[in-house]
Amino acid sequence: MAWSCFSCTASIPPQPRVNFRPSSQKCLQDVRNMVTSLGIHSIRSSPVDSLRNGNWVKLICGASFEDVVDIRNLSLVYTLAGVDCIDCAADESVVNAVNQGIKAARDIVEVGRPWVMISVNDDEDLHFRKAEFDPADCPQDCSRPCEIVCPANAISLEEEKSSAGHLWNNNEEGKKQGGVLTERCYGCGRCIPVCPYDKIRVHTYVRDAAATSELLRREEIDALEIHTSGRQTLHFRSLWEGLGDTIHHLRLVAVSFPDVGDSTISTMNAMYSIMEPRLRCFNLWQLDGRPMSGDIGRGATRESVAFAVRLAAASDRPRGFLQLAGGTNAHTVAGLKKHGLFQTKSVSENFKDGQSMVGSLGPLDAPIGGIAYGGYARKVVGRILSAMQSQHGLTCIEESPDYLFKALAEALALVGTVKCYDVPS
Ligand code: SF4
Ligand code: SF4
Repeated sequence: MAWSCFSCTASIPPQPRVNFRPSSQKCLQDVRNMVTSLGIHSIRSSPVDSLRNGNWVKLICGASFEDVVDIRNLSLVYTLAGVDCIDCAADESVVNAVNQGIKAARDIVEVGRPWVMISVNDDEDLHFRKAEFDPADCPQDCSRPCEIVCPANAISLEEEKSSAGHLWNNNEEGKKQGGVLTERCYGCGRCIPVCPYDKIRVHTYVRDAAATSELLRREEIDALEIHTSGRQTLHFRSLWEGLGDTIHHLRLVAVSFPDVGDSTISTMNAMYSIMEPRLRCFNLWQLDGRPMSGDIGRGATRESVAFAVRLAAASDRPRGFLQLAGGTNAHTVAGLKKHGLFQTKSVSENFKDGQSMVGSLGPLDAPIGGIAYGGYARKVVGRILSAMQSQHGLTCIEESPDYLFKALAEALALVGTVKCYDVPS
């Protein structure tokens, strides 16, 4: 079958070799067969089991990415691929889109429901910003490198036309309109240095604690992630206290932070001591190696792996699962394996007769709980979503099962590096 190429030893996701058939129903059945044959549908584990077992996978939609059409479809595809958690912006419409995507996936095949996580920040943070510029200020002869470099297709520029529909032919000629599509910009900043005229600015923001508390009262949010600089705990304490009792129903609280060298462990301990009195659920440390760079290439994952190696060896770190992020891509598992930090088992080893075999494991038995994929995960599926929308103008990927099959093949190739899905014989 086409998906026999998903091997847990693969370091580069192979391109799916799929023969597409004209019948949509047949393609939808292929989607069901693919999920069923890999055992994803029969998994009864909770995401916590995945963390204990070292094969947790989180999809990062992006703390600032707010294109609800893409978010719904990404959530659908990665739910079918068996992710444990979907992390999104702390915005009501975005949370709705994630839950719609999960529901649509489970209407196709009965798979486990991933946890829904919202991301907030305690202070200025790279993940919480938007680029902006006035296209009317752009010189007419600019070759628009900003548009080319943007990984999110968040910049759209075109020549302004007269009201009669013609290009201007006076001194207005070449004037641009459009600019940054705010809902698609996730703040990576790559457009800024390539602008030869220094026209691009960034607008940073902090998610409001009161609005976050209100959102957290909703039952369909399972987890919270706090992005922090790792250099201080003042703002962290303020946010944590501001959330009040709205955190009590959560199943997981994650803290995302970069490597800040010698003070990393002491700051982690300080943050844990702030959380501990009101922490009634599992906690996780998201190691943000090289933020928002997983789509760039093989080398991007080195920093997150190096960060993980250092923290996994630190006996004085506070309790909580460790999970990689920031630069993660199809090469991350290979990087962990080199250091003996990837010890997950295949689906069949973990689930005998539909029963989880991980009950006896302690929460820290797997040195690394798992991996979160952001830019890379969005890139490999996003190009299929773009092709579908260009061809059909559709907003729901299940309406075009051939595209859904392609997108799922890409998602499985990535998620499968961690989950080690069994290849059907
Ligand atoms: S900051 Fe990144 S996502 Fe936003 S417009 Fe610039 S390149 Fe695109
Ligand atoms: S690169 Fe700078 S000047 Fe050129 S179109 Fe983009 S924002 Fe405008």
